Amino acid sequence: MATWSRILGVTAALTLAVGVAAGCSSDNSGTTSDGKVAVVASTNVWGSVAEAVGGEHVDVTSLYTSPDGDPHEFEANAKDTAKVADAGVVVLNGGHYDAYMETAPKNSDAIVINAFDIMEGDEHSGEEHSGDGHDAGHEEDDHSHAPGAVNEHVFYNLPVVGEVANSIADALAEKDSANEQYFRDNAAAFNNQINELRGQLAAIEASDPGAKVAQTEPLAGYLLAEAGLEDVTPAGLQDAVEAGQSPSARDVAATQELISSRGVRALIYNTQAVDDGTKALIAIADGAGVPVVDFTETFPAGVTDYIEWQRANVEALTSALAASATSTP
Ligand SMILES: [Zn+2]
Repeated sequence: MATWSRILGVTAALTLAVGVAAGCSSDNSGTTSDGKVAVVASTNVWGSVAEAVGGEHVDVTSLYTSPDGDPHEFEANAKDTAKVADAGVVVLNGGHYDAYMETAPKNSDAIVINAFDIMEGDEHSGEEHSGDGHDAGHEEDDHSHAPGAVNEHVFYNLPVVGEVANSIADALAEKDSANEQYFRDNAAAFNNQINELRGQLAAIEASDPGAKVAQTEPLAGYLLAEAGLEDVTPAGLQDAVEAGQSPSARDVAATQELISSRGVRALIYNTQAVDDGTKALIAIADGAGVPVVDFTETFPAGVTDYIEWQRANVEALTSALAASATSTP
């Protein structure tokens, strides 16, 4: 008896110790020690969408939160990977934007939400989707929004972000059924705000149909397309800047001429992908009186809310177009 109770005692103490150690972040069931669903997102943009839907019933960790630097080049460390492994719900961009999230080991019952795949699912609805060989598939697809590769900046695709919010609500409802209505109400409220922003884009299209703009990389492509704007930047320039390479002299000259001749109504540039070449384009735009609009990949300092961020983006775009409309001879 004495021996058994001692053994049991030791076992209980060990179990407790393991439980406490794991309980620091998660009990490995995808739930935090205070009963919230553990959500891990690749960037604070996707994290904030999860936050908007999950509210007080989720514990959201975003791995990339810097307003500077290039999230494309982010590499997850061991601590980040452990966070992903403990998550109940994982929200990622997909399309090779945050490949480390796709490959990171996950809880066997974790629900993974891939925004790029949701977008692709929309485009391919009714078609047979060949599961494997993402890259091979893309090259053969006839996408209207970008020559060559599919634009992976899904967070500028407002309707898809709305769908991601609904998918997050589905996932959280599965993890925490008691709060299902709360998640669905939040997702509906988020989609109402998305629709308001889409209304502002429709207003741009109505007042400035087909206005030509340039952007240093395809960052805001979906947003510009929904606003009915035509991105006339040479594709080669955008591809090079996006890939962190030097664009060809011909593409640079063509883009500079486009801006200096005021062939565009605004120059949109990515503050997180700046080099001497993009700085030169901004200087030319300033000199020619072409409004420059700053866009970002992740939240600028001080911003924590997706809707607030996109509202500022849409308003900056609206103001730029208004300014160049009145200044056009
Ligand atoms: Zn980018």
